Amino acid sequence: MARPQIVIVGGGFGGLAAAKALKNTPADITLIDRTNHHLFQPLLYQVATSALTPSQIGTPIRGILRKQKNTTVILGEVTGVDEAKKCVFVTDADRENVPVSYDYLILATGVTHSYFGHNEFERFAPGLKTLADAVAIRNRILQAFEMAEAEEDPARHRELLTFVLVGAGPTGVEMAAALGVLVRSSLKSEFRRINPTSARIVLVDMAPRVLPPFSEELSKAAKQRLENLGVEVRLGHAVDQIDAEGIIVAGERIVSKTVIWTAGVAPSPAGKWLKAETDRAGRVRVERNLTVAGHLEIFVVGDTASLDRNGKPLPGVAQVAMQQGRYAGKLIHARIVGGSVPDPFSYFDKGNMAVVGKGFAVLESGKVRVSGFGAWLAWAAVHLQFLATSSLRLTVFLQWVWTYVTGQRGSRLIVNHHASEPGAPATDSATRAAVASK
Ligand SMILES: Cc1cc2nc3c(=O)[nH]c(=O)nc-3n(C[C@H](O)[C@H](O)[C@H](O)COP(=O)(O)OP(=O)(O)OC[C@H]3O[C@@H](n4cnc5c(N)ncnc54)[C@H](O)[C@@H]3O)c2cc1C
Repeated sequence: MARPQIVIVGGGFGGLAAAKALKNTPADITLIDRTNHHLFQPLLYQVATSALTPSQIGTPIRGILRKQKNTTVILGEVTGVDEAKKCVFVTDADRENVPVSYDYLILATGVTHSYFGHNEFERFAPGLKTLADAVAIRNRILQAFEMAEAEEDPARHRELLTFVLVGAGPTGVEMAAALGVLVRSSLKSEFRRINPTSARIVLVDMAPRVLPPFSEELSKAAKQRLENLGVEVRLGHAVDQIDAEGIIVAGERIVSKTVIWTAGVAPSPAGKWLKAETDRAGRVRVERNLTVAGHLEIFVVGDTASLDRNGKPLPGVAQVAMQQGRYAGKLIHARIVGGSVPDPFSYFDKGNMAVVGKGFAVLESGKVRVSGFGAWLAWAAVHLQFLATSSLRLTVFLQWVWTYVTGQRGSRLIVNHHASEPGAPATDSATRAAVASK
């Protein structure tokens, strides 16, 4: 009898956990991802602020699964699903919409940025979701300092050295704090015409407090910490406009050449592919066993799935994705080998953490609420533990210790000089003249 065919779309937290759970399943598994790497998104902000290098948070998926002989990894973009014919369509570098058949399908395609209906903001305010995003943002930040150093007109220093982050959730807070640390440590003594510590870092959100998923007490502690790091926190007002000059918030123009979007996310088009019921955000509504209604063979897991617990949707975090991926893998395994089918999915919430600069984090787990150095140590231990390989755990640990002690960063290279990059701070004639005159 032919072995069952299992297709997993997405090699992020959910897809990879599913693949690993199917390690001993007598089936042929095909994992398809449009990138060749599994990305540890929680540390993306550290690449964007030069603390880590891209290769310290991204690992080739086929490397991770090299010993799993029943699994083939394909680099390609899934463009649709035909539930009737039981196949997905895959486009790769030289073929379009090639059908790949499945008996079981797991969709773990994550999310993308959402500009809340203002897609025109994207040109000027890139988001942070992929390694390419992180490197592009790193380039912009470092380039802004380089341009300011070359600029002879001090009046322009202010706009070049104003960094705006839109969205004070965990990503915005972690990124703003990391920028505050960057200007006060590594960059501080390296420039002659400008003073990097004079950089203005503004964190904007329409919510009344930072880190809304955390308790009010921890939000306050995080805000205080941000302010100690020199971050200006502007809450309670949505951004009205983002353009080449910066942003307008509460009627005030903040002139800035570097605006970063750390606000909303939108799910992948999995719901559209399946023509399935979605929640208001567009995530696929799944049953308690993570399948799509009417399709016992199609599972949706992670950020692109919507499942309520106590009347509230499960959060879009790595733990949910990993636990759901593992569950879907185990359920499929049980069905194939005829073992006992697991109980409906139930999420084990281990808590929330966010780091706010060097040696400070907030941690909330059940009734435990902690902030400060102890929480930061816990944050560091947990993040190291969940990196994909032991070599990453070792290099990231060593890098963190080195940076903690010396203030020196992992990678401060500007590696992409695409002048046409949308919204990139363009080298204007005054700057070119200043450079040319040197
Ligand atoms: C900047 C940032 C910081 C975060 N910090 C934290 C944190 O501190 N703690 C926490 O718990 N969570 C954090 N998260 C959220 C966490 O990363 C997500 O919840 C988790 O990645 C979801 O896993 P997933 O498998 O659903 O999706 P992902 O991990 O995003 O994986 C989706 C995969 O699908 C692939 N893919 C998408 N579409 C297609 C397609 N059409 N064809 C082929 N492949 C496709 C993508 O390339 C990707 O590899 C953070 C997220 C971001 C962006």
